[in-house]
Parts: sequence; C-alpha cells; structure tokens
Amino acid sequence: MTRAYDQCMRCGKATQWGRSVCRDCNPAGLPEPSPSQYHATVFVVVLIVVVMLAVIGIVLR
Ligand SMILES: [Zn+2]
Repeated sequence: MTRAYDQCMRCGKATQWGRSVCRDCNPAGLPEPSPSQYHATVFVVVLIVVVMLAVIGIVLR
C-alpha cells in the first residue's frame, strides 16, 4: 500500500492520517468520506449491478 491517504485530495498538502482533505480545503471540519467507506460503497454498487444483471438475465430468458 502506498501512503495515499495522508495527502489532501484537492491540493496535495499533508493531512492527518485518515483525513482525505486538509484543513485549508475543509475549514469547517465537515466529515470526509474515509477510504474504507469509499471502498465499501464501490463494493456495494458493484454488488447491486451484478444482482441487477442477473435479474435482467433471468427475466429476459
Ligand atoms: Zn487541501
């Protein structure tokens, strides 16, 4: 694994570990999607697409 998440997504500045955006880009301290949440979301979307394709395949048969 590379150290991809201790750098700001927007400006590339160093951030706290686990933060995807630095304080300058997120001054209000709004919650940013964590890398694990992002990967979980992608996984769920892929799962839904696979299920939908399976259902469509069954219906069209
Ligand atoms: Zn930044």
